[in-house]
Amino acid sequence: MLKRIFQTFKHSIFPSKCLECGQFFHPHQDKSTGKILFDSMYHDPIETIFYQVMTPYLCPSCARKFTPIVAPFCTTCGRPFESQSGDGENHQCGNCIQNKPVCHRIRAAGTYNGALKSIIHALKYKNKPHLARPLGRLLFSSFMKYYDINTIDTIIPVPLHISRLKKRGFNQAVMLIRQWPDLFAGIHSDRFAQLDFKNLRRNRKTISQTGLGKEKRKQNVKGAFAVHDASKISGKQVLIIDDVFTTGSTCHECAKTLIKSGAKTVSVLTLARAD
Ligand SMILES: [Zn+2]
Ligand SMILES: [Zn+2]
Repeated sequence: MLKRIFQTFKHSIFPSKCLECGQFFHPHQDKSTGKILFDSMYHDPIETIFYQVMTPYLCPSCARKFTPIVAPFCTTCGRPFESQSGDGENHQCGNCIQNKPVCHRIRAAGTYNGALKSIIHALKYKNKPHLARPLGRLLFSSFMKYYDINTIDTIIPVPLHISRLKKRGFNQAVMLIRQWPDLFAGIHSDRFAQLDFKNLRRNRKTISQTGLGKEKRKQNVKGAFAVHDASKISGKQVLIIDDVFTTGSTCHECAKTLIKSGAKTVSVLTLARAD
C-alpha cells in the first residue's frame, strides 16, 4: 500500500523517459498497467499485451510501435510469407517441405524493429535487466498462443559462454523465463514444463554473431554447445528460448546438440525475429 502511494507520488512528480523516442511522459496510474491478466494473455492480440506490459517504459505513441508476426507464416519455421495478404492460411514453406527441419516449431512474439528492438537493446546493452520481467510476460503470452502446454516438457534458455556472462552480468534468455513458474501457477495448469538452466552449456567461446552473414554465423557456433546430463534431455519435448532469432544459426546448433542427446522434439521461441 505504502509502496503504491509512493509510486503514484513519484510518477506525478517525476515523469519517465521513453526508451524508444527519449521523450518524457507520465505513465498511466491505472493499476492494471504494467501487469497483464491471465485471461488477456490468452485472448488479446500480442500487440495489446506489448502495449500493456510496456506502458511504464514507453510513451503511449511508442508503445504502439510493435509489429506482430501475422498470418500467413510457415507452420514449422515460422517465417512469414512474402505475400502478406493478411487472410492467408498458415502452411509449411517449400524449404521445410524439401529439407527435414531440425526444429519442430519456431515462433516469435514480434518483428525485430520499432520499440521491441529498442527495449531488447536496452535490456542487453544498457544494463536494464528489470526489462526482462515485462518482456518475459510478453514471451509467456506468445508461448500460450503458439504452443500446447502438453507438448512441451522442458524449457531451456540459450546459454552464454562464461566470459560473456561475466561481462554482461546476466543471461537475458534466463532472465526472460525466471518468472514463468509463477505464470504457470497463475494459469492453474496441472502440467508444468520444467525450466532447465543447467544441461545445455556453451563450452566454446564464440565471437558476436552481429554483423556476420548466414554462413559465417553457422560456422561461428558450430560445435559450441554441449549437453551436460543427457538423461535429463532424452525423450523430452524441448523448447529453446532466446531473445532474437536472426538467421537461426544459434538456435539450430542448440537444437542439433539436444537432438543428438535424445530430445524427442526441439522447438524455439524468441521475443523477436529479424529475418
Ligand atoms: Zn516514445
Ligand atoms: Zn518453413
